[in-house]
Amino acid sequence: MFTQTHLLVGAAIFARPGHLAVALAGLVGALLPDTDVWAMFVVERLQGASGCEVFHYRYWEPPWTTLQMLLNSIPAYLGLVALSLTCLLLPGDRSRGVALIVVVFASSALLHVGIDFLLHHDDARAQWMPFTDWIFRSPVSYWDPRHHGQIFMLFEIGLGLAVATLIGLRFGTKRVWAAVTLLTLGYAGSIAAGQMSGGDHIRGPGSCEILERNSLSRPPAIPDPLNIALRSDAHA
Ligand SMILES: [Zn+2]
Repeated sequence: MFTQTHLLVGAAIFARPGHLAVALAGLVGALLPDTDVWAMFVVERLQGASGCEVFHYRYWEPPWTTLQMLLNSIPAYLGLVALSLTCLLLPGDRSRGVALIVVVFASSALLHVGIDFLLHHDDARAQWMPFTDWIFRSPVSYWDPRHHGQIFMLFEIGLGLAVATLIGLRFGTKRVWAAVTLLTLGYAGSIAAGQMSGGDHIRGPGSCEILERNSLSRPPAIPDPLNIALRSDAHA
């Protein structure tokens, strides 16, 4: 899903008034698995790559593939949940506060990568590393129109708006309403970024397709969160 939906869902599940540390742990966990994509976008663009080059090529190259593997490993988060839950259940309460924060963080990250596991096709990752490099290509993609992406996107935006409203009502403060409004505005931003990433080619429109034709065998795909879901022509 879009990063903002992960954040909204994470906040809805883990954030409660009066528990700031727990809420922050949930938000960081919801955000972390997508940070490789954001870092890649910033670093590669600063080094002069066009939007389509970043998502069609750099995305499949080290060091980004290594970072993807580390930040999107389901076993890693499962292990962290199990470990922190064990600490939480042990007698004595010296480190319970820390264990609770880690449980929330790891559970939120696990929820994120679990959702991603079910919603990626061409850009699916090997999420069971280090045990296996098996990749599950879901029949539903959260962005790809060839795999129900447009229908799912409508559902996701509706879900995001509903969850944002729930969080706003739960907290009832101007700050929280402003934060969730900003996140929901992110849907317009994601769509606009997708349009721009297809239109800002240094070599002019179609340059990515030309690069693709000259490329040896790299699979074209657009990862979350900066997708170009409305440009089905851009990843033919
Ligand atoms: Zn993700």
